[in-house]
Amino acid sequence: FNTDRFGQHILKNPLVAQGIVDKAALKSTDLVLEVGPGTGNLTVRILEVAKKTTVVEMDPRMAAELTKRVQGKPAQRKLDIMIGDFCKTELPYFDVCISNTPYQISSPLVFKLLSHRPLFRCAILMFQREFALRLLARPGSPLWCRLSANVQLYAKVDHVMKVSRNSFRPPPQVESSVVRICPINPPPAIRFEEFDGLARIVFTRRNKTVRSCFQASGVLPMLESNWKTLHAEKEVPLDTSVPFASKVDAILTGTGYSDQRAAQMDITDLLELLSAFHDALIHFS
Ligand code: SAM
Repeated sequence: FNTDRFGQHILKNPLVAQGIVDKAALKSTDLVLEVGPGTGNLTVRILEVAKKTTVVEMDPRMAAELTKRVQGKPAQRKLDIMIGDFCKTELPYFDVCISNTPYQISSPLVFKLLSHRPLFRCAILMFQREFALRLLARPGSPLWCRLSANVQLYAKVDHVMKVSRNSFRPPPQVESSVVRICPINPPPAIRFEEFDGLARIVFTRRNKTVRSCFQASGVLPMLESNWKTLHAEKEVPLDTSVPFASKVDAILTGTGYSDQRAAQMDITDLLELLSAFHDALIHFS
């Protein structure tokens, strides 16, 4: 029985399982999405409260166990099992997402949920402790990074509880944490690819100044090529009277971010800088 292929660490501690479901504060009208239900230790508790639960499980043997577990019980009618890879599945409407999935899909899981429409109310998700701490990191702190900024642009993230590796069978190698992610509704009107494009440049050299982040190899040619493409699309003539590098420098100096340490940039700073670049028709994606 290969538990590694699907990252199958079953949550055996009933107090933790109940705690996770309680923290979701489910209503009897809620439609719940659970990713990777395994044998259903969270699922049966969700089914006690929610109106309907859709689970996405990749391992057919696990799905079969879960089916058996609810067979003939009232909960059976409230459960929809989709067999397949969550990352490739078209999601139904849901109010709340609950998941303890393998840590390999942490990032795709968060971004798939945040880009799903209509927006859900909140998600209660178990992650490897380090990943959870990066989601929660505040600007300027040692763990503040591209992931923190990208997620906090769209959502409020709270720490819910720590979970010891001994709560699982078999125990994973790492400690875990449960976090709550509540999307900001309405979401900020900014294309993710643009914000992420800037975040990637800034956080790749997080201890340098913002100016030197833009001097990293490949950055200026990429921005210049986007700048030219956008001018062509909009049929605006290119102003080539000053070198492209000087244009970028003028934006960084003009906004006052040139000498700032990249790691100190908070979301408002990043949005302000992005908007100054956009005003000059310089895009990041
Ligand atoms: N949620 C259960 C629990 O807490 O006991 C099981 C947890 S186990 C860590 C992860 C589960 O996610 C396994 O059942 C595994 O088969 C499933 N899984 C792994 N990758 C998946 C994917 N990409 N899409 C859907 N399910 C996946």
